[in-house]
Amino acid sequence: LCSPQIKDKVLETMRLNNDLYRALEGHELELYYQPQISSATGEIVGMEALIRWNHREYGLIPPARFIPIAEQSGLILPIGEWILSSACAQNKAWQDAGYPPVRIAVNLSIKQLRNPNFIKQVEGALNKTGLEPRYLELEIMESCALKDTDDIAQALTALKEMGIQIAIDDFGIAFSPLAYLKMVPADIIKIDQTFIQGIKTSRIDEAITRSIISLAKSMDINVIAEGVETVHQHDFLVRELCDEMQGFYYSKPMPLKTMEKVWQEKIRGS
Ligand code: C2E
Ligand code: MG
Ligand code: MG
Repeated sequence: LCSPQIKDKVLETMRLNNDLYRALEGHELELYYQPQISSATGEIVGMEALIRWNHREYGLIPPARFIPIAEQSGLILPIGEWILSSACAQNKAWQDAGYPPVRIAVNLSIKQLRNPNFIKQVEGALNKTGLEPRYLELEIMESCALKDTDDIAQALTALKEMGIQIAIDDFGIAFSPLAYLKMVPADIIKIDQTFIQGIKTSRIDEAITRSIISLAKSMDINVIAEGVETVHQHDFLVRELCDEMQGFYYSKPMPLKTMEKVWQEKIRGS
């Protein structure tokens, strides 16, 4: 017994699940890129790769709609491998074309991290493309539950030892962010957008943002503010010495060609 809306949603999910099998082969998946900007210099120092699905019928489908479906079916493993190798190849291609070297940030699903072959996959992607490990950032969501004895913490340490940058995404919203920080060998913390959006209107969000920046600094961790949209948020974060910013204030995630145009204009203007 369910409402017509729930029934439609279930049918749509089943349809997406079936179509996702063909999406990879059919070249329907595409990486968009969003720049990460240094607060000190205003320059692009990183690019986050964000997946999109160009569905033949439904048009552009955001990751929040299909990544959970891919995780459930296990398709996240081949999709994640494609994302990783495409992002590494793209970053190397930018370097070869003369763009200033930047990090490429790749979002990971917990299922990928639990895959025993994951480290080999990352090594393979770096070897095949020739990208130096320091130009790869792997983003792991803070909501990915870890246990003390978890193999994931070991895998992350091994990746960090290879020279790859480990970032904790959406930092501050999970149940115990401080305990998480103790377990994950992070190089980068990304302050969750909900705190950034409260800058100016919420003294609590401002205080939390300030504390995360100061915590990161005292641990020698790079700190990025996500979801920066206004000049007020930008100015606050500059004052508080947040290392990097990312958000619509600078640029929305864009398809490759559009991003390259914007990047070239920025280089010419500076
Ligand atoms: P995330 O990694 O935290 O990515 C940030 C999300 O915030 C992106 O949404 C981005 O488009 C959006 N965003 C960036 N700046 C702003 C801003 O100023 N204001 C607002 N309101 N939003 C902003 P998107 O692309 O829809 O991705 C959503 C989530 O889906 C990501 O969150 C990430 O968890 C997941 N995701 C995206 N790409 C991948 C991927 O390749 N693999 C995996 N496993 N997950 C992915
Ligand atoms: Mg991310
Ligand atoms: Mg995030």
